[in-house]
Amino acid sequence: MGIFRRLFGGGGTTPANQGDNEGFFVYVQCNNCGDKVRLRIHKQHDLNLAEGGYVWHKTIVDNRCFRPIPTEAHFDSHYQMTQAEIEGGQYITQAEYEGA
Ligand SMILES: [Zn+2]
Repeated sequence: MGIFRRLFGGGGTTPANQGDNEGFFVYVQCNNCGDKVRLRIHKQHDLNLAEGGYVWHKTIVDNRCFRPIPTEAHFDSHYQMTQAEIEGGQYITQAEYEGA
């Protein structure tokens, strides 16, 4: 990790799980085949206002077994996931997504 940061001339803060200003990423793994999926959530288009933050409804489909994974996730006003229900899969961290 340190090497990459040096190569890219960084050394500053690393934006955690933030793809850009308009969206951010969540990571899901399929329980059936183990495929990992990265999803970009557009803050304005994909999220609905809910009490204390936002709610996101989505049926995720992975690229291996194509089994639908319905989910409903809640986020606070800082787009941090506070609660999630997911069927047939599980949320994983960015590190887990990028790992083996
Ligand atoms: Zn699958």
